Amino acid sequence: MRIYSTETVEKVDEEVELAGWVDARRDHGKLIFIDLRDKNGIVQLVFNAKDEKLWKIAEELRPEWVIRVKGKSAKRPDNMVNDELPTGKVEIAVSELDILSRSETPPFPLDTDGYDIDEEVRLKYRYLDLRRRRLQQNLRIRSKLVNEMRKALFEEGFTEIETPLLTKSTPEGSRDFIVPSRLNPGKFYALPQSPQQYKQLLMVAGFERYFQIARAVRDEDLRADRGFEHTQVDIEASFLNRDDFMKIDEGIIVKAVEALGYRFKDKPFPVFTYDEAMEKFGSDKFDLRTPEEKKNGALAFAWVVDFPFFEKTDDGKWTFTHNPFSMPKEEFLQSLLDGKNIEKILTTQYDMVCNGLEVGGGSIRAHRPEILRAVFKVMGYEDEMIDEQFGHMLEAFKYGAPPHGGTAHGVERLVMALTGEEYLREVQAFPQSSSGRTSVMDAPSEVDKKQLDELGLELKKTKKK
Ligand code: ASP
Repeated sequence: MRIYSTETVEKVDEEVELAGWVDARRDHGKLIFIDLRDKNGIVQLVFNAKDEKLWKIAEELRPEWVIRVKGKSAKRPDNMVNDELPTGKVEIAVSELDILSRSETPPFPLDTDGYDIDEEVRLKYRYLDLRRRRLQQNLRIRSKLVNEMRKALFEEGFTEIETPLLTKSTPEGSRDFIVPSRLNPGKFYALPQSPQQYKQLLMVAGFERYFQIARAVRDEDLRADRGFEHTQVDIEASFLNRDDFMKIDEGIIVKAVEALGYRFKDKPFPVFTYDEAMEKFGSDKFDLRTPEEKKNGALAFAWVVDFPFFEKTDDGKWTFTHNPFSMPKEEFLQSLLDGKNIEKILTTQYDMVCNGLEVGGGSIRAHRPEILRAVFKVMGYEDEMIDEQFGHMLEAFKYGAPPHGGTAHGVERLVMALTGEEYLREVQAFPQSSSGRTSVMDAPSEVDKKQLDELGLELKKTKKK
């Protein structure tokens, strides 16, 4: 049976079978050395000119070809040991070689970190780009982080529940991606900006502790740490006040991140009010690391609390700063219900920052219908509009809604903090380009007239690019 490259060191003097990609080839007269790459790493293969038949096939091998070999795992002579390679003490004296698949010369080098390669080309050939060690590592760290968070959440008694992708437009503050409905011509679903309302409904349903590794889709301006799609570890819990929730959430992050072997600058995480943060750092996404700590990979997590609930829009109306479903801090509840001193109202919102990135944010929610209604009133919504858009939440809250709150952690931003990557695309398998096109598949693309007809849609004007 085939084994992985890293296992060859435990199989000295044994016959082994390996498979993978040709990472590099070195010709040394009567010997050809091939670095064979698999998911675990690299091991050196040796072909000897004495075996003519094998030599002939080996001579053909080029980088990125896929091969299977059998041979003996042999100790290298002392002066040939490569200490930089985990398998550097051995090499495989090949006796059988199968070429499983050939490769054209890749459009860009795969043995570099790849930062200098044009983004569009990297994304067009993302399946090759992903072969580079840096991206392999980033995606494996991501997978481990999600696994550890999931484990920590299960240990705290959370239940993993999925919520719909085809849903209703919600006011998370971004533009929706909308999906036309064939069965209801002229009507549209929206892809979820977050599972916010569903997770609150799950609290009404009595689950008490919910989480989901949720995809969130937002049609907003793309930035280094922002794409159309991202993944959230989305959490909600009942019967906890703000400080209790923050403690549980911090515990989950600490457990998961420590399991991956990272170090924290401060634990417990320091807490700053929004005013303190703005005064001290001029930003609510600050970086607490010293220049020295930036080099040694420390993680400087912190909390920000006591944000203003509302801010003025350009046209002079009030809008929410974070989340319309939040509860104000208790001492401001009456002001909210009375619609007075709006600018002074502070919310129960808590943001988590790490190394200058916002890596989480949530709040305790308004679980009584009159409080939620008051929030929308402040924002200038008429009763009719509130009922039309949020009637389902107000209705649900009439049936014994427990006090509840939660948060969402951006998986990509957490992984960016762990790996030191500056761009979201370096920690996603198939990201969109900065012009909003998908990797490899080249969407968005046109659809045929039949599809449009079925949906009852007609295009006003199609701009050819
Ligand atoms: N729904 C919020 C968001 O996606 C997070 C939360 O308040 O739980 O930003």
